[in-house]
Amino acid sequence: MQLMEQRRLKVKGRVVKDQSMRELTSFKIGGAADIFVVPHNVDDLRSVISFCSQDKIPFIVIGNGSKLLIRDEGFRGMVIKLGGEFQEIKEEGDEIIAGAGADLPALIDFVTERELGGLEFLAGIPGTVGGAVVRNAGAFGESLSDRTIWVKVISANNEDFILNPGEVKFGYRSSIFLENKNLILTEVKVQLFPDNREKIISRVKDVTNKKMQTQPLSFPSAGCVFKNPQFYSAGYLIQNAGCLGMRVGDAQVSFQHGNFIINKGNAKAKDIIQLIEKVKERVKERFNINLEPEVEII
Ligand SMILES: Cc1cc2nc3c(=O)[nH]c(=O)nc-3n(C[C@H](O)[C@H](O)[C@H](O)COP(=O)(O)OP(=O)(O)OC[C@H]3O[C@@H](n4cnc5c(N)ncnc54)[C@H](O)[C@@H]3O)c2cc1C
Repeated sequence: MQLMEQRRLKVKGRVVKDQSMRELTSFKIGGAADIFVVPHNVDDLRSVISFCSQDKIPFIVIGNGSKLLIRDEGFRGMVIKLGGEFQEIKEEGDEIIAGAGADLPALIDFVTERELGGLEFLAGIPGTVGGAVVRNAGAFGESLSDRTIWVKVISANNEDFILNPGEVKFGYRSSIFLENKNLILTEVKVQLFPDNREKIISRVKDVTNKKMQTQPLSFPSAGCVFKNPQFYSAGYLIQNAGCLGMRVGDAQVSFQHGNFIINKGNAKAKDIIQLIEKVKERVKERFNINLEPEVEII
């Protein structure tokens, strides 16, 4: 990081040293990142990428940090969050091109206003468009891959290209971007359909209400901690293995939703990790099923 001190990174967007990751994640957990950058546009992003590659600085791109657990030691390198022009959303008939930095609620408002249906299932998901593509976000049997036409990418070599849905390798809450951290997603094009505004609003309300009734939304969390194994819901297994309310420090398995671990105040990443292990052990003992974490530990 010394080289970085010597050579200033010149971008239009924000640059912060020793950024606490608590403030950038929905878990409200995590040590500091050496440097945090919010590139404002593609030129900024290219400068950031060149800077990292010249000085061999590791980087990660984050959205709203709503599927991330950052370790207490923080991140040695650069954390990039797309801002400015990356938050723009454009309409092309029934198709929408959304910047990876746009928030999902802003996207839902945008398409509702234009009477385009098809993204209601994303209601209540506190992520960005980029994070939603990477994790193939979804609910109630629908996911973003169902609507994706293409995604635009810039690589760590500063090359840009477009991937079709097959090349994105969408899976259950996963995509190629989870394996290949050298790819930065900048835009996505989705196919929607014309619909009546009132109907869209009513479906968004339905989805939001269902989530409010079932999820512990008054405490910080990262949504579902484990993937659902084949044939079962992870929440059901966790509840029936007697894990509800299990606690390590301020990390607790929610009483309301077994697959949520909540931060009751001052939980550390190590508490969450220990609790994840305890839950896995209990479920393995009781059902002989190996739960796999859905939350990504950095
Ligand atoms: C209360 C709550 C409810 C939730 N409900 C749901 C739900 O119903 N369904 C669901 O699927 N998820 C849900 N989630 C999880 C989470 O909100 C989603 O996975 C969301 O899509 C993550 O978006 P994000 O912007 O926060 O991504 P982050 O958590 O910041 O990042 C996720 C991954 O994407 C990568 N990434 C982000 N942006 C880029 C980019 N531009 N280029 C390359 N890589 C990038 C990161 O490196 C990381 O690997 C919930 C979370 C919470 C806290």
